[in-house]
Amino acid sequence: MEIVKRHMNNIHPKRKVLLNPGPSTTTDSVKLSQIVSDICPREKEFESIMRDIRHDLLKIVNANPSKYSTILFSGSGTLSIDVLISSLANENSCILVVNNGSYSQRAVEVCKYYGIRCIEIKSKDNCLPVLSDIENVVLSNDKISLIYTTHHETGTGILNPIREIGAIAHKYGKTFAVDTTSSFAMIPIDIERDNIDFLMSSSQKGITSMAGITFIIGNIDFIIKSGSFPKRSYYSNLYRQYDYFEKNGQMNFTPPVQIIYSMKQALIELFDETLEIKYARHRKAFELLYKRLSEMGFKFYVDCGMNAGLLLSILYPKNNNWSFERVHDYCYARGFTIYPGKVIEQPTFRLSVYGAIDYNDIERFCRVFRKALVTLGIDIPVQY
Ligand SMILES: *Cc1c(COP(=O)(O)O)cnc(C)c1O
Repeated sequence: MEIVKRHMNNIHPKRKVLLNPGPSTTTDSVKLSQIVSDICPREKEFESIMRDIRHDLLKIVNANPSKYSTILFSGSGTLSIDVLISSLANENSCILVVNNGSYSQRAVEVCKYYGIRCIEIKSKDNCLPVLSDIENVVLSNDKISLIYTTHHETGTGILNPIREIGAIAHKYGKTFAVDTTSSFAMIPIDIERDNIDFLMSSSQKGITSMAGITFIIGNIDFIIKSGSFPKRSYYSNLYRQYDYFEKNGQMNFTPPVQIIYSMKQALIELFDETLEIKYARHRKAFELLYKRLSEMGFKFYVDCGMNAGLLLSILYPKNNNWSFERVHDYCYARGFTIYPGKVIEQPTFRLSVYGAIDYNDIERFCRVFRKALVTLGIDIPVQY
């Protein structure tokens, strides 16, 4: 009985503002859209929802459905990195990873796990890759079949020049794959103009629904070609899942049914708002966040000009009273979630503007955050 009562109360859950880069704050309508009659996912009714979602996701990056296909998997975003790399490498393939952050590093690790040859072009996490270095490496290694990078490195907030990297890939006949997990439906992407063959994201980031679905949008010709590549996973092979979708309109194995409903609702809300207005809303929230933190004296790991405008990686100030955990707990108790950093060389924390939030939430947050500092005895402006 207690559990039932608790569930009934949760039908009107208290709104929380998540300033971590996904899972993001969702609307009540997205939350409630998960409460549906039980349905077998093999029913036609469910199949049509799946078809609409796959099509809607193509629209977000202006992908032509006769050239690109959306392949959904149950899992978090990292599964798409895993699927993409393990499915798109032939026996003698070599993957070039343009690596300036922890998410591209993850792709390097996936290559290692599968014993797939990988060349890394590594730059510091707060520096952009040098395009001529990429071109030189491509020219001197004819085994490279695929170039891989991350669009928005969510560990730092840096935005990589994917169109230019993609142009190099295509100039030399290589496939170009990008992790757009944290930029999809946030920053405008045009899959063909940006020279992308494969990209990925998941349900809980820019789409703003619940965590549980990840997806790859890829060039159909290349997916079909990969059908003859080594199969390194039974459950999570790209061609296998694509083929099943083509033949049956469904995922090969049981999907997270309720998450699919929440994705559908989130996509309806996204197209209602329009991508342009959504982008402007996030930008406005970000600019206010940047302004308020700068006023409080905070410094950032990535230079403003290289930042994607969605996330700040903030350096810990020099003050004996500073404690990320205590600031976190103060804010968390007041409905705001702040997030630890991901930079190895310096202690940082992160704030981002994903989800169903706007500049008013950021204004309220900044007041709470300032109070947290005052309560902890940290002088403002903070010192370095
Ligand atoms: C969030 C994210 C992922 C996936 O992380 P999960 O925790 O597995 O969902 C992958 N790449 C980038 C750039 C991300 O921001």
